Amino acid sequence: MKKFKAESERVLDIMINSIYTHKEIFLRELISNASDAIDKLYYKSLNENLGLSKEDFSIIISVDKENRIFKISDNGIGMTLESLEDNLGIIAKSGSLDFKKTIEKSDDINIIGQFGVGFYSAFMVSDKVEVVSKAYDSTDAYIWTSTGTKGYDIKKTDRETVGTTIILHIKEDSDASDKENYDKFLEEYTIRDLVKKYSDYIKYPIKLELKKAEVSEATTSEDQEKTESEVDEKFETLNSMVPIWKKRKSDITESEYFEFYKSEFHDYKDPVRVIHTQTEGSINYTALLFIPSRAPYNYYGKSFEKGLKLYTDNVMIMEKSKDLIPDFFGFVNGLVDTDITLNISRETVQHNSQLRKIARNLEKKIKTELLDLLEKDREKYEDFYKEFAVQLKYGIYESYGANNELLIDLIMFKSVKNNKYVTLKEYVLDMKEDQQYIYYASGKSVEQIKAQPQAEIVLDGGYDILLLTDDVDEFTLKMIGTYSSDPDKKDAKEFKSISASGDLGINKDDDKKETVADDTDLANFIKEALGDKVSEVRFSTRLKNHPVCLTEVGEISIKMEKVLKSMPNNNDNIKAQVALEINVQHPIYTKLKKLFESDKETLKEYATVICNQARLIEGLSIDSPSELAASVISLLAK
Ligand code: ADP
Repeated sequence: MKKFKAESERVLDIMINSIYTHKEIFLRELISNASDAIDKLYYKSLNENLGLSKEDFSIIISVDKENRIFKISDNGIGMTLESLEDNLGIIAKSGSLDFKKTIEKSDDINIIGQFGVGFYSAFMVSDKVEVVSKAYDSTDAYIWTSTGTKGYDIKKTDRETVGTTIILHIKEDSDASDKENYDKFLEEYTIRDLVKKYSDYIKYPIKLELKKAEVSEATTSEDQEKTESEVDEKFETLNSMVPIWKKRKSDITESEYFEFYKSEFHDYKDPVRVIHTQTEGSINYTALLFIPSRAPYNYYGKSFEKGLKLYTDNVMIMEKSKDLIPDFFGFVNGLVDTDITLNISRETVQHNSQLRKIARNLEKKIKTELLDLLEKDREKYEDFYKEFAVQLKYGIYESYGANNELLIDLIMFKSVKNNKYVTLKEYVLDMKEDQQYIYYASGKSVEQIKAQPQAEIVLDGGYDILLLTDDVDEFTLKMIGTYSSDPDKKDAKEFKSISASGDLGINKDDDKKETVADDTDLANFIKEALGDKVSEVRFSTRLKNHPVCLTEVGEISIKMEKVLKSMPNNNDNIKAQVALEINVQHPIYTKLKKLFESDKETLKEYATVICNQARLIEGLSIDSPSELAASVISLLAK
């Protein structure tokens, strides 16, 4: 017996001991695997002219109640010895580890499909699983057997036809500590229901083998034997096979869309929106798209792959066509079915200009749908936005603003004034008449910004501030440049950080007096004492109650510096230039002036302390805590 790899063993353990109530989804997973296997062979046949037709394929379910056996067979591509090892033995895919981590958090087995471990759900209902398979183009067949976590065996076996049969030995009800009713999976009516519920749209017929022992009124044991040996075997097709996207919109209920989405795209939450469009014109296509309500577990990771399924005339030719969806809408799931004659080679598909046209149309549709959601169901939109905000904002940034038109009205920031999300349009429409800029501040929370010295004058003036929380935010605003709610871009407003040095467009007269001429020597002295910790020292009137603050000189903010330095490429030379601003209305100013006349050594210690205070207020770290401590102690001892 071969042992499963450690991770596989743990995944299996979770499956076997799962107390999850929806064990029925094992059937959905196995049917979906069977259908994929048929797709692969059919696709190969089209590509290599093997002469197989769609009618040749089917998935057959049969049960033997007495022996508690549930079989599901397909005549798809099958598995070789190696693929049995790779696919069912190792779970070498990174998916299994992610699955384990996620399941430990969410306890929802329904997400298994996402992780490429769907096959293992068979162990939720069986205490032994056998897989008999013969791969296309191969002469040998193999049987894979496992009773769970201990391991598995693979042996040569006989099988005439190409394809795979999964044989489940269904658990006994009495064995179940979880009180699960396993018997029901051997009942025809349960199977009918489950196929209808989860797999109705599967393109190939899912046939149930009916075994109706027509028990006649036979009385003799001889007659009885005869009747049982003449068991009447029939097949009943359980699924309608009409792909949901080929049905008329008016014939599809919302819950049908949702069920389809969840089973096909392995999500356990309903999507926030469904887009179903049938377009006829220069290009004919049907698209069925789903905007999810939450990001998949790996969405912001490297293993995430965006893409829409691509069908031509009902045949899936690509699992994830990347060209059909831009990165910034990469969270959208769905499919496109088109009748354009695509040469069925994946390479050509990628460069097809007609597909690009479809993609452009879909982008616009998604935008319209999201704007509609924003307008009609704000709460739902905000929930969606929280999941994908970074992606949408990044979309603006990475395209150097080329996608502004598609994305700008979809992004939102928290308003510091109201602690609620606002769009840029809403911010601008709410601006005061004399307001020159769209103010923003980087921070963790509204409270943090409110406590910032720089915010006081802005908020007191009645101006709102946008709260920037994500790393990408400031870069995005820089890319946007200016915003106008007017379609002709009249009266566009610039963005302004409340920490920017210089004119904030508030209290203009006072600003002019910012640096008092007499104070130049004092400012220079403090600057000298601080060295390169600050690029400038100013006396300002922008502060009300706070003694000091740091402001940003130039294009790179302190937050941007942090972000750039955390990136892998060499950004070490990047440094935000900051100015130390001292409030001329604060008693500290008078004190500094006095010290400049009488005690320059003490003034140096003051400089260290106030500069570090300003850093602390900003939430920044202190470069040299020992230097600060020495200065404070020395001042206290005086
Ligand atoms: P996933 O289907 O998400 O990749 P599974 O654990 O369900 O993950 O299956 C693992 C792999 O085993 C599949 O990717 C496929 O290559 C193979 N496989 C499973 N069932 C079949 C089948 N009926 N016919 C052929 N290959 C199969």
